[in-house]
Amino acid sequence: MCSILVFQSLSMPNRTHQHTHADAKPAMVSGVTAPPRRHPTVRCWLWNFAIASLVQWCACSDVLGSNEQSGEKALFPQPIVRMGSEAGPTVLVVAGIHGNEPAGIRAAQIIAGWSVRRGKLVVWSPANPAAVARHQRTIPDVPPEEGDLNRNFVVEGRECRPRGTLARQLWHHVEQIRPDWLVDLHESVKFHKDRGVGNTLIVYPREETVAVAKKLLAKVNQQITGSDEKFVLLRWPARGSLARAAGAVLGCQSFILESTRQDPMEKRVAYHCEFVRALLEELQMEPTARTPK
Ligand SMILES: [Zn+2]
Repeated sequence: MCSILVFQSLSMPNRTHQHTHADAKPAMVSGVTAPPRRHPTVRCWLWNFAIASLVQWCACSDVLGSNEQSGEKALFPQPIVRMGSEAGPTVLVVAGIHGNEPAGIRAAQIIAGWSVRRGKLVVWSPANPAAVARHQRTIPDVPPEEGDLNRNFVVEGRECRPRGTLARQLWHHVEQIRPDWLVDLHESVKFHKDRGVGNTLIVYPREETVAVAKKLLAKVNQQITGSDEKFVLLRWPARGSLARAAGAVLGCQSFILESTRQDPMEKRVAYHCEFVRALLEELQMEPTARTPK
């Protein structure tokens, strides 16, 4: 599930950086005679084997980091971070807070493959792997009042007091990332016209957020012919949601993007990708798909 690895911890002072050297070709040094190649020793061979095994293991599994402050095992994979070559905003894309909403998770896998010209793109998915593993909305094996992760980011006054271990760990890291924009990908059972929240942007209503959200809607809605299926703007993410807490406590621009299961999977995934792309373009981050090696 996590094929791109970020080894640096979020707890490090300079924040997490994507391993941008991954694209770099080995440097050529002219005028230097290379030493004669020796046969690899057994120790060298074992070392290479150990590294290859570790890489293989990581490529096949979620990379679970640890919460360095508490020493407890993290309950989610490390985020993937794409650094632009110039300074700019930090955009955090979250998916998989609800385990039965796969479109956002698939979109996040695609978005994680993008590069940006400036700023930082952080993709965090799935935020609730245990629920994803069981294809259910709620966190398994926790008290019912802690089950819905997107109601656990409780805001009291000017602070977020997360309910439960998973919400606490996630919030700790979001505070460290300090996003300028937070986009949380979800999907609803029904269209908004049928009293669901499908095909909506639910914004924390800051002036700038609303203005940008309207531009994104105008852009993506162009391609949607059915008037009842066009995305609409709603205000105020639910109390206890990550987007609400981020907007209220961190002061960032935040919104929830809801597609609907009334649409086929490919269409839902495409909507998620298109809105995130439109946001990155609006922020002059110029997203481009990375060329596969
Ligand atoms: Zn959801």
